[in-house]
Amino acid sequence: MYLLLLLLLLTACQQEAPRGEYIVRLENEHGLIPVAQEPIAPTPYPWQPQGGESRPITKEYFRCKGSPINPPNIIMKDGKEYTRYYDCQGLEKHSLPLRDGKEFVYPVLITLLNHVQKATEKNVVVTSGHRCIAHQAFIDPTPKGSSSKHLIGAEVDFFVQGLEEQPMRVIQLLMDYYKEDEKEYKTFQRFEKTSDVSTPPWLNKEIFIKLYKRTEGRNFDNRHPYPYITIQVRFDREKNERVSFSPDQAHSLLRK
Ligand SMILES: [Zn+2]
Repeated sequence: MYLLLLLLLLTACQQEAPRGEYIVRLENEHGLIPVAQEPIAPTPYPWQPQGGESRPITKEYFRCKGSPINPPNIIMKDGKEYTRYYDCQGLEKHSLPLRDGKEFVYPVLITLLNHVQKATEKNVVVTSGHRCIAHQAFIDPTPKGSSSKHLIGAEVDFFVQGLEEQPMRVIQLLMDYYKEDEKEYKTFQRFEKTSDVSTPPWLNKEIFIKLYKRTEGRNFDNRHPYPYITIQVRFDREKNERVSFSPDQAHSLLRK
């Protein structure tokens, strides 16, 4: 009797267990109907400012964009290589220009870029701020290039993310910044002399604004396909003096 039970038990264990389960589909189930999804804003990273504001522009955004991995700029003359310019060692190897022993960028440039960011709630992309002497020579080895205001922290090239094709809107915002100011600041004139841009630039006492179209002013720092805006500082309101290039101001510290 016990033997028979044991035999029955063994036989039961040897039976194969069913593999997986069957999925039963009801008659009226023809497919999945997607549920409408509500778009949600991405969760900001902890370092991002809250409330739709962009990250503030600081002088850090002006650091030289040179890099030792850039290929040399080879200048040809009469079909032969005349000279070649190598790029600088990059922002980790030298400082911003110095004033009174400290890194210095003209504060009005930082203020104006933050004004644009605040008014548009979009990010300003600085494509060229400070250029050290080596990087400037690499980009533009002409005599005119050697006295660029980029060397002394008095010039910036930029565009606005999301407004790449609307640079005139950005230029208007730059001019609006001065609307409550004294006459010589709130009044912008057009610069009608020949320059490297086809759109006559705008100037007040403090700044000079240029618009480079998508085909103009392309250089190693501005290899993007967008129009871009350049602001040069003409007048230092704090020191009450004209801003012009001087080799002393182009001095920056080398890091080991
Ligand atoms: Zn550099």
